[in-house]
Amino acid sequence: MDKKIWIKDPTAVWTGNQLAAARGIVIEGNRIIELVEQEPASEVDEVFDASNQVLLPGLVNCHHHFYQTLTRAFPEALDKELFEWLVSLYPVWANLDEAAIRASTTTALCELLLSGCTTTTDHHYVFSTSTGRAIDVQADVAAQLGIRAILTRGSMSLGESSGGLPPDKVVQSPGDILRDSERLIMEFHDPAEDSMLQIALAPCSPFSVTSELMRDSAILAREHKVLLHTHLAETLDENEFCLEMFGKRPVDYLEEVGWLADDVWLAHGIHFNQDEIERLGKAGVAVSHCPSSNMILASGSCPVPALRAAGSPVGLGVDGSASNDCSNMMQELRQAFLLQRLAHGASAFSHEDALQIATAGGAALFKRNSIGEIAPGKLADIALFDLDELRFSGAGDPVAALVLCGAHRASAVMVNGQWRVQDGALVDIDIDAVRTGHQAAATTLWKT
Ligand SMILES: [Zn+2]
Repeated sequence: MDKKIWIKDPTAVWTGNQLAAARGIVIEGNRIIELVEQEPASEVDEVFDASNQVLLPGLVNCHHHFYQTLTRAFPEALDKELFEWLVSLYPVWANLDEAAIRASTTTALCELLLSGCTTTTDHHYVFSTSTGRAIDVQADVAAQLGIRAILTRGSMSLGESSGGLPPDKVVQSPGDILRDSERLIMEFHDPAEDSMLQIALAPCSPFSVTSELMRDSAILAREHKVLLHTHLAETLDENEFCLEMFGKRPVDYLEEVGWLADDVWLAHGIHFNQDEIERLGKAGVAVSHCPSSNMILASGSCPVPALRAAGSPVGLGVDGSASNDCSNMMQELRQAFLLQRLAHGASAFSHEDALQIATAGGAALFKRNSIGEIAPGKLADIALFDLDELRFSGAGDPVAALVLCGAHRASAVMVNGQWRVQDGALVDIDIDAVRTGHQAAATTLWKT
């Protein structure tokens, strides 16, 4: 029999869509079984004292590049916009090896868990002879740390010599990409409702893959019922590239290669016109908003309210740590709140909208009905934030306080019924060893 844990008397419970007047929740095994109104319906085995804490669904991160934690605040990449920024970083990333992938994945996942994240994706697209098993390594680390993951098999096939942006050294042949994509799906993709690991296919962007690879990736993904992901409409440079290379704007290109569909989620989704937003919404294409990255690279801002109104699921992503430069979902949520308010007005995006895209919105983007929400029957993925800090002193609304006063570290995090963070620290992880190993891997990478 699975034990029952009562997460008792939090200051507030925010369910993923609304505030619940409740005395907490009861968890049994890997599920939430009850929203407690007065007393639990039956006897519990354990009580977790949640007083002075706000209870949220675990946060869902919809876009990241873990390997980029090794090139944070990288001197040659500072103060540049996307294309120039990429060109200064590609040669460094070309030297990644599997030890670097292990170190960077560990660091990114530790940061995500500590910020209240319970489900994350990663988009790894830099493959060379020394990173052939990058996704296998990431799968191993995610399992060790106990976070729910959707790992994408990224790809680049359009090198500099064929009119693309990345150097030829880091592009692969379509045959190699598709063979490895299928291998990873067969080996790791678990379609179960409570799956801890899924695979998706993710050609990197219009300016780094061919149209054929976009089409063939979609065919392969649909054959195996896995999701599709790519960067789209991130910058005006990209729009111009699409017009020049393919004779059409990014959304028309997306449609031409068979990607205007509800099994697709896009990173960024900034430079759309109203007609394109409506087409995306009608097709159910999802978008991951990445506010910090968009501000650092001065790319623009995603039209989140219009996309949601049109019917697109919108999630939140921290994006890679060379354009953020951290992996903190709670901080990112605040950035989304600030940027969307600035772009669309104070009544267009509330703190609850920011929380929603970071929880239930992300769950909808991943087609994962059982996460991103606190309700009986949902998976036990939760995050608690302690209000007993100077930054929250004097706050009226405890849920709004998390966003407005700038919560950035969870006090406790549970994934699939297992505590992964307690008392603000990772369970069974030596964070100093993680940091030392990661710094050494970064230093080695810069020198190669
Ligand atoms: Zn990205």
